[in-house]
Amino acid sequence: MNVLFFGPNGSGKGTQGAIVKDKFDIPHIETGVIFRDNISRCTDLGNEAKGYIDRGELVPDNITIPMILDRLNGDECKDGWLLDGFPRNLTQAKELDNALKQEGIALNIVIEMVLDRQIAKNRIMGRRLCVNDNNHPNNIFIDAIKPEGDKCRICGGDLKARSDDQDEDAIDKRHNIYYDIETGTMAAVNFYRDLSVSNNGSPKLIELDGRPGVKEVSDNLLSQLAR
Ligand code: AMP
Repeated sequence: MNVLFFGPNGSGKGTQGAIVKDKFDIPHIETGVIFRDNISRCTDLGNEAKGYIDRGELVPDNITIPMILDRLNGDECKDGWLLDGFPRNLTQAKELDNALKQEGIALNIVIEMVLDRQIAKNRIMGRRLCVNDNNHPNNIFIDAIKPEGDKCRICGGDLKARSDDQDEDAIDKRHNIYYDIETGTMAAVNFYRDLSVSNNGSPKLIELDGRPGVKEVSDNLLSQLAR
């Protein structure tokens, strides 16, 4: 199963993505995680990406696109994948579409989490990352996933905030890119909507209301995936 997952920063996309990953037993490929991992290991890629990420800008396409296409060609992805955080603009969507067509690989499902910009912003500022596992959701502003004191609510691990999550200018820039329907992420979402309409409903589109609590959103997601 090959799946794309769209949603503005702060919509809970990472949390719901983990559910899709488990359901289909596919690797969860998150561009942001790949970049942060490279930054913490001080690799060339990390050094190159850091400035863009700190400013809330996209890492340039000539770095990001080959990085992801390379990853999809790897052994780990031969039985399917979940891409989260890519494509982030129309160019990336078109390049991915071309690459998949060339390889004869079908895109099966496109999930879009829909959430108001201001709600998403509040959620971002409350988000905390578990040092042991990125898929342990913790947010100081959401009761259902509030940390235990200052520790991870799942494993008791230490928590940290992402520096780009505490900078309002950077958050606004990321959201400007997401909600941009001309060339940004919403342009990519619309590209897949058009593709699905012109191709008899393939890929299947799933729209998820991101406003309810984590459990309600995942129930909705799982029921739509089962259809
Ligand atoms: P995220 O963890 O998805 O919020 O991503 C963190 C940052 O990584 C973004 O603000 C961008 O700077 C960079 N990034 C993630 N995905 C992409 C992408 N597909 N294209 C370019 N930059 C990206």
